Amino acid sequence: SGKFFVGGNWKCNGSKESIGKLVSELNNATLEADVDVVVAPPFVYIDQVKNSLVNSRIQIAAQNCWTGKGGAFTGEISVEQIKDIGAGWVVLGHSERRHIIGEDDQFIGKKAAYALSQDLGVIACIGELLEEREAGRTFEVCFQQLKAYADAVSSWDKIVIAYEPVWAIGTGKVATPEQAQEVHDAVRDWLRKNVSTEVASKTRIIYGGSVNGGNSSELAKQEDIDGFLVGGASLKGVEFAAIVNSVT
Ligand code: 13P
Repeated sequence: SGKFFVGGNWKCNGSKESIGKLVSELNNATLEADVDVVVAPPFVYIDQVKNSLVNSRIQIAAQNCWTGKGGAFTGEISVEQIKDIGAGWVVLGHSERRHIIGEDDQFIGKKAAYALSQDLGVIACIGELLEEREAGRTFEVCFQQLKAYADAVSSWDKIVIAYEPVWAIGTGKVATPEQAQEVHDAVRDWLRKNVSTEVASKTRIIYGGSVNGGNSSELAKQEDIDGFLVGGASLKGVEFAAIVNSVT
């Protein structure tokens, strides 16, 4: 459903020098035509990336945003500022922000609603912890996180859902294609029942968690996997391009 979508989440990595190198690798790579490609550098490097990326097909995402208009909110970055610097997307609800920083569903929902109200695309992350999966609570946890987005937003036109099982993030333990497909199918079914048939069929559901150049094409074959959110492997331009190209 929809165009394949591949995001590179650079997280809190890089320096002017290493990001310069990564961008030049991306500039030299051939990316297949019909894929949405988005990279999410740390805020402080967005301008550098924007100005040095030659491939205008690569869009930029921020990794976070404030819940409303800017003002006296020390340390925060507003949606307006993200758009002003030329980024079209924001990653929200990432497990690192939920479980390390302590963001909750309601706070994430507010950010998503405000970003969408200003026409910024949202990569809305969900995903269960290992102990939740082992307790048979994967669907329950994912549906609760989904519901928080659904309760907060009024349009799904610019939302991409990223299913990222926490046990697969940065661990090298990628979900099997069957494990990922099972949850993607359940997410689509949840959207059908709780939002609409149209949103269920149009919304891209992408997978994240130890995706690399070696496992992406098997995952991409699954019916309900519409792309990837790549962490570690997105810091290597050649491998990231291979992941992008594995989907066609
Ligand atoms: P890794 O690809 O490093 O497992 O990270 C996935 C992720 O968290 C993307 O947002």
